[in-house]
Amino acid sequence: MAPWDYPDFDDHEGVHFFRDAASGLSAIIAVHSTALGAAAGGCRYWSYARSDEAITDALRLSRGMSYKNAMAGLPMGGGKAVILADSARPKSPELLAAFGRAVESLGGRYVTAEDVGISDADMVQISSQTKHVTGLPVTGAGDAGGDPGPFTAMGVYLGLKAAVRRGLKRDDMAGVHVAIQGVGSVGGGLARLLAKDGAKLTLADVNADRAKSLAVELGGAAVPADAILTVEADVISPCALGAILTAETIAALKAPVVAGGANNQLATPEDGWRIHSRGITYAPDYVINAGGIINVGLEYLGHGDRAEVESRIAEIPGRLEEVWQESASISEPASIVADRMAQRLIGRA
Ligand code: NAD
Repeated sequence: MAPWDYPDFDDHEGVHFFRDAASGLSAIIAVHSTALGAAAGGCRYWSYARSDEAITDALRLSRGMSYKNAMAGLPMGGGKAVILADSARPKSPELLAAFGRAVESLGGRYVTAEDVGISDADMVQISSQTKHVTGLPVTGAGDAGGDPGPFTAMGVYLGLKAAVRRGLKRDDMAGVHVAIQGVGSVGGGLARLLAKDGAKLTLADVNADRAKSLAVELGGAAVPADAILTVEADVISPCALGAILTAETIAALKAPVVAGGANNQLATPEDGWRIHSRGITYAPDYVINAGGIINVGLEYLGHGDRAEVESRIAEIPGRLEEVWQESASISEPASIVADRMAQRLIGRA
């Protein structure tokens, strides 16, 4: 099937396929929109069962980046890369260099950064071949940039508290029960911030030991990964992979609030309606999880220090509130309202 035949194609400006036999690289770079500037979005290193799943992932993530960057007020478009992990040809300096050459071949239309499976050390390797890289380790104290994870966690933390204010009418987090799916860079950072506020935590990860040891450290509980979405919590915070909110999982949710950092949480647009009809306060993912791109976006653009990054991240709750207010006034899902706002900003309304 050609890329434009995929249901998630959404008029991408370009979908680029790269193979490098010497290093074993197979990668896709999807450029959704450059209307607001260079298409910025991370690179995911992931093992896909089939290559059409990788194409769909790249298309969905790339469109999400257009919306995320627009809603975050960044002068950047949206794109995303996926590297198809192959256990026979593991990630190597040669493979990362080949990916760097692929990014460079697009002449700055796409700017890469970290995503799942890619570290800031990997970014350094990639930057040996292209300058269109951000999320590089920071050199000066107080500079913008570096690993986006902690900044994403900060934005999700602020957005989650706004969702609790809206959904539970609670101004403080003491005793508020948050169930976090995935305790990696974003979910783990979020758990630490919430623990300081006295929130009650239930954690799960496919890496069960990771969830258990963080639960011990923070005084929370750990449950098996397949049990987290149905925990009787105040908030479910998806911080692992996408498409976890489906007809089935939404029907089984027991929490009145869903607010987490994972990209593309809704499996389909109809799931936005499902969550809305259940009266659940939902924080659209690309609005709440923009902290990391704000950090690396300002790094790439060369303006803004850490204080500027933090003040822009502090605007996330206000943006969510705007979405929820419109959603309430026109009785449409927050996800649809946010999409429309973003589409207006990129000239695709
Ligand atoms: P990470 O790889 O550091 O952590 C993800 C964690 O989720 C891992 O511990 C993994 O074992 C776990 N996991 C995977 N599948 C799971 C499942 N089914 N159930 C429970 N746990 C599962 O990745 P991250 O950087 O923390 O990113 C997490 C999510 O947030 C991803 O969807 C990513 O696209 C999104 N996101 C990340 C950033 C960022 O700055 N890192 C920014 C925006 C969005």
